[in-house]
Amino acid sequence: MLWQGRRESENVEDVRGSGGGGRRLAVGGGIGTLVLVILYLLLGGDPQALFDSQQGGQFSQPAQVDTQGLHDDASKFVGVVLADTEDAWHAIFRQMGREYQEPKLVLFTDQIRSGCGFASGATGPFYCPTDRRVYIDLGFYRLLQQKLGAGGDFAEAYVIAHEVGHHVQNLLGITDRVEAMRGRVSEAEYNQLSVRLELQADFLAGVWARYADRIKRVVEAGDIEEAMRAASAVGDDRLQYRSRGYVVPDSFTHGTSEQRARWFRRGYETGDLSQGDTFNAPLL
Ligand SMILES: [Zn+2]
Repeated sequence: MLWQGRRESENVEDVRGSGGGGRRLAVGGGIGTLVLVILYLLLGGDPQALFDSQQGGQFSQPAQVDTQGLHDDASKFVGVVLADTEDAWHAIFRQMGREYQEPKLVLFTDQIRSGCGFASGATGPFYCPTDRRVYIDLGFYRLLQQKLGAGGDFAEAYVIAHEVGHHVQNLLGITDRVEAMRGRVSEAEYNQLSVRLELQADFLAGVWARYADRIKRVVEAGDIEEAMRAASAVGDDRLQYRSRGYVVPDSFTHGTSEQRARWFRRGYETGDLSQGDTFNAPLL
């Protein structure tokens, strides 16, 4: 992926290693934990990782920290990709006669207090609809590369674009509609809705890739395959198999590897939002 020397977003909040600069505070469980667990289930994270993170008791706070951070290659890369998503979604929203509101992106290490509660890097990247922030611990990229065999800069860009896809769903009211169904449908049905939400975020990541390529020619040979590998590496069937050794289809919340890669590709090939209605697609 060609990214060096391009515009970086001003929406990156770098709080890595904020033990020195950031205020730390101790926390307990309670209602915040419950809300967070629910959100994690919604976003497809592994709630166990959350409970593990509760035991540490030390969290950094994004608001207290110098947003310049380390400004190394990793944060520059994230800034450029986030800027690409801003340019793409501003253009797409304009075409829809709407105004795109940019999300913030928080880079953290180990643990963070988000508007959705406390999180650890072990939960993987996530989007918090409440504070409209994407949270990424760059350690996840190492995991993607070393444990899931899906490294590469475009794979990393896909992860950001997927989370920004959740932000787009939030702006379009889709997140709220899915959330409103919680408790009104069975758990299995709710998981189905959650899968559709995730696959749509993959589709939206694909739409971003198409725009980024058309406007800035950033996609190099092999990049799309790289993103598809990442999309399929984080499919629920594969993650569940890795952690439990077997697969339970009713508890899928992200879609299978094959489904994730296919919806990403569909977004990339069509670039057309009307093709991404995973909620009414008869076949996922
Ligand atoms: Zn997601």
